[in-house]
Amino acid sequence: MFTLNDILQGNKGKLEMVCAQQPDPDLTFHAAHHDSRQIGPGDLFLAIKGAKVDGHTFITKAAQAGAKAALCEHPVPASDVPADFIQFVVPNVVEALHNTARMRTRRQPETTYIGITGSNGKTSTKEAIATILSKVAPTLKTAASYNTEIGFPITLLNLESHHRYAVLEMGAQWVGELAMLSTITRPDWSVITNVGASHLGYFGSQEQVTIAKSELVQVLEPDGIAILNYDDLRVRGMQEKTRARVLFYGTDEAADVRATDIGGDALFGLHFTLHYRGEQVPVQLRLPGEHGVTIALAAAAVGCAAQIPLPTIAEALEELTAFKRRGELKPGPNGSTIVDDSYNANRQSIIAIARAMKEAKQVSGKRWAVLGDILELGEYSRDEHYQTGEALAGLVDYIVAIGDHARYFIEGANAAGLPAEQTWYYSANLENTPELEAAKRATADLLKSQVQAGDLVLLKGSLGVGLDSLLRMLSE
Ligand code: ATP
Ligand code: MG
Repeated sequence: MFTLNDILQGNKGKLEMVCAQQPDPDLTFHAAHHDSRQIGPGDLFLAIKGAKVDGHTFITKAAQAGAKAALCEHPVPASDVPADFIQFVVPNVVEALHNTARMRTRRQPETTYIGITGSNGKTSTKEAIATILSKVAPTLKTAASYNTEIGFPITLLNLESHHRYAVLEMGAQWVGELAMLSTITRPDWSVITNVGASHLGYFGSQEQVTIAKSELVQVLEPDGIAILNYDDLRVRGMQEKTRARVLFYGTDEAADVRATDIGGDALFGLHFTLHYRGEQVPVQLRLPGEHGVTIALAAAAVGCAAQIPLPTIAEALEELTAFKRRGELKPGPNGSTIVDDSYNANRQSIIAIARAMKEAKQVSGKRWAVLGDILELGEYSRDEHYQTGEALAGLVDYIVAIGDHARYFIEGANAAGLPAEQTWYYSANLENTPELEAAKRATADLLKSQVQAGDLVLLKGSLGVGLDSLLRMLSE
């Protein structure tokens, strides 16, 4: 919920209000959307000029869907919208969105704003944190993976006066982006998951990734809390970059919030003992992989920062199941099981889930990795695919790869000893839809004829490869 005043005050001197009627000064909005299909009654429409679509063409549609107003860079004719529809004309809609969100959260300083960033596991960690905090107080969380300069402020505009915590996923694709997002709302607590090789094409090196992610702890005030992964050396080093109190989580004895005695099944859920300040509690997870423990520990650390008792934290963690397309187990062809980890991919996350499959105890058949390209790697692309292939050679029995870089996965795997007759690749230009569909079709046919009862089949690739359509083909 936000108000007309949040928009006007936030954009003072930079806004012209176009409306046939005098607006109600007490006007409030439920939410803001830049997709007119998501607009509901009482919302604000954001007419954003994208690379492909110009949101201004949808202002009338948004008004028909019940929007009360639009932020835009030029208005549509008054005759195209209802008489009480307001068009806030601003020089830059994204900036105006930031200004509005800033004004909104400034009115609610008593809420604890929690920012989450890192190369992997932001969304999963956000969900786990929100599950714990919701046990004790009303909590706002980012929807889906809304972590950009648009998604982050849109989330903030969903804030309601009763929310005590706001759990906010924050993405970074360039150095300076997290510092910029923090000018909209500075987190009180920051959580860093890890520093990996994702988006290397944007950043140039993992050192640059580290610099970019550390901005989220640099911006903390001295009374803030930096919640850092002790097991990741680059994240551990961020201790130097913050004035805030540091709370480390991890498996090392030096971590404040710690897991010991990790055991159980790596794919179907590990169990561990959770420790904090001399207290301990057992936790049985249903999240896949050792990275599931990392996600749980990060969330537990936030729970500890919020002074939630360990048994309540454990109870929340035990409720978590694999998040959408992040290690979900689904029935596959011929009595096999699909590990749907197809939401996105980079070297670390592919290896993490493949290791979980390797270590899974209740597997009677073979292990397959069906891979799509890892995108956004720039000049690192060939090496990252090749090294992923090399690592997978020791973790799976068969690899099928699809995409522009498919052959590098396979070359790496073959070089590391996985026999050529256990690997396949279907080269496809991802921009060429028919070619990509044909590659997926060939993969689906291969899998349907080759996989057997008891086999585990991993689906993993960057979102842009769209492995969800392969999943549909497999169930046809
Ligand atoms: P995005 O940048 O696309 O928003 P994200 O950081 O939000 O991604 P998630 O969507 O939570 O990440 O998870 C993406 C993938 O990363 C999942 O497949 C998950 O299993 C894997 N993953 C999560 N945490 C880790 C980790 N600590 N190490 C390796 N892989 C991980
Ligand atoms: Mg995400």
